[in-house]
Amino acid sequence: MDNFLTSADLKKIPSLQPDVVVVGSGIAALSTAIELAQKKNVLIITKSSAVNTATAKAQGGIAAAIDEVNATSHLDDTLLAGGGLCDSKMVRIMVDEGIEFVNKLIENGVAFDKNDKKIAFTLEGGHSERRVLHAEGDATGKVIHKSLIEEIYKNPKIQLLEEHFEIDLLYHEDVCYGVLCLDCKYGRLLRIDSQAVVVATGGIGQIYRETTNPEIATGDGVAMCFRAGAMLSDMEFVQFHPTTLYLAGAPRFLISEAVRGEGAHLLSLDNKRFMVEQHPLAELAPRDIVSKSIINIMHETNTSHVLLDLRHMDKALIQKRFPTISALCLEYGVDITKNPIPVRPAAHYMMGGVKTGEYGETNIKRLYACGEVACTGVHGANRLASNSLLEGLVFGKRAAKHILENLSSDVGYFPLNEIKRKEFSRATPLDITDILLSLRALCWRDIGIYRDECQLNDAEKNITFWEQYVLREEFSSREGFELQNQLTVAKIIARSALIRKESRGAHQRIDYPDTDDKKWKTHILLSRKDFHD
Ligand SMILES: Cc1cc2nc3c(=O)[nH]c(=O)nc-3n(C[C@H](O)[C@H](O)[C@H](O)COP(=O)(O)OP(=O)(O)OC[C@H]3O[C@@H](n4cnc5c(N)ncnc54)[C@H](O)[C@@H]3O)c2cc1C
Repeated sequence: MDNFLTSADLKKIPSLQPDVVVVGSGIAALSTAIELAQKKNVLIITKSSAVNTATAKAQGGIAAAIDEVNATSHLDDTLLAGGGLCDSKMVRIMVDEGIEFVNKLIENGVAFDKNDKKIAFTLEGGHSERRVLHAEGDATGKVIHKSLIEEIYKNPKIQLLEEHFEIDLLYHEDVCYGVLCLDCKYGRLLRIDSQAVVVATGGIGQIYRETTNPEIATGDGVAMCFRAGAMLSDMEFVQFHPTTLYLAGAPRFLISEAVRGEGAHLLSLDNKRFMVEQHPLAELAPRDIVSKSIINIMHETNTSHVLLDLRHMDKALIQKRFPTISALCLEYGVDITKNPIPVRPAAHYMMGGVKTGEYGETNIKRLYACGEVACTGVHGANRLASNSLLEGLVFGKRAAKHILENLSSDVGYFPLNEIKRKEFSRATPLDITDILLSLRALCWRDIGIYRDECQLNDAEKNITFWEQYVLREEFSSREGFELQNQLTVAKIIARSALIRKESRGAHQRIDYPDTDDKKWKTHILLSRKDFHD
């Protein structure tokens, strides 16, 4: 594997020199940028429009121990859902500091829904009490994102460049000194030199055929940090959301866990409420358990989906709490007050990622990661619902704090060499879409909810084969680079899943169905040197 995805003469391409560059425009990136702008000039680059993020799609809400909600039980529920692999110190930080930052969102005008002037908390899977704040019913992410982006636009110390795709990090030995990006509108390369780089590029869901994630979730941040030598952790843990809309031709739209929190039932196609027999919390069991149960029922009954039934619930409550879900389902002929919703699981969230410390710092100096791209250790083997917006908010602020307190403007020596990839040419063009569809089908089949040694070996072998010719190619388009990144991410997930010979949280091995605390209550750490390329 080359160190960089493109050749470039770094001296000759145009450049920008902000104090800090933040990559991404989701909750993690925007929180970091706002904090940094107290003292630094910040450049945000994002590969699509600023609103095209998982953050803006978040429905259920944000968990926080504000008002009378108990912080210790939030911590306990998070640890329990994480299957023994959460870092309790990091969870404590998230839960405690989250209180201040969620209150700040409220001060800044985020209008969380209320009942009689009090915050209307909802319940989700794995939560032992109502602690999830939501806004405009099921549009929490959109409301939070709008508030943050308005702050960004008002702040003269922050510049935001949309349609700028980060291709690679620029680094020398183990120090990061900027990024190389593609200005997608004009198709030209741009170098950004900075005192620190914050990668907040979100998740990896697009490697799977079935996913709730937006099209931007192609794992670019994980792949570029990996190429630069960053340590990755827990990459075998991918969360599958139990309930996404399953209708031919409709998007795999998420049907929020809060729908079950407000009382909806899961039914098999022969109308049995199967979760009651599976777990004491029935439909509100942790996500990994509900997803597995749905897949088992689908196999047993030889069906492609199950049903989410709201028919017994109050119609006014449904309309008030879930206006977005109601409207979307209605577009496809499903009136959720009258018809059960066809649903099945889909890839939703990456627990693993770039390994970071308490302040988002990585093993590469001046390189930080936060949000879904990072592995802080707060989610362990399975994320508790509505903890990821909170994580992005808290650890974004902490990364900024570390940069403000520790980094001087003296970045030291960095080379502006010519980056040269090995020459390669082909007579026939590569069909990006064809490989992508094959990769997505393979990931869904072989590194999906259930895994075994044979499938995982097969996955790694196939991906390595595709890599041989796809990674050699020198693309000049976002789609080409994204394909290369997705192959890299898929291979790392397959390798991590092969190594972990047990079942825990979101990682389920058919050939090792038990949890083995003696051997595997530990993290799988991988970096580039673990792969011979
Ligand atoms: C449908 C859905 C519903 C969800 N509901 C909830 C919920 O209710 N509560 C909750 O806590 N969590 C929820 N989640 C999870 C949560 O939304 C995400 O984990 C979180 O928003 C991630 O935030 P982020 O800032 O890390 O990344 P994102 O919000 O995904 O932002 C990533 C940003 O990085 C940019 N980017 C990516 N690659 C590059 C590149 N190469 N160059 C430049 N820019 C790049 C993207 O364009 C984007 O701006 C949900 C997720 C989905 C998909």
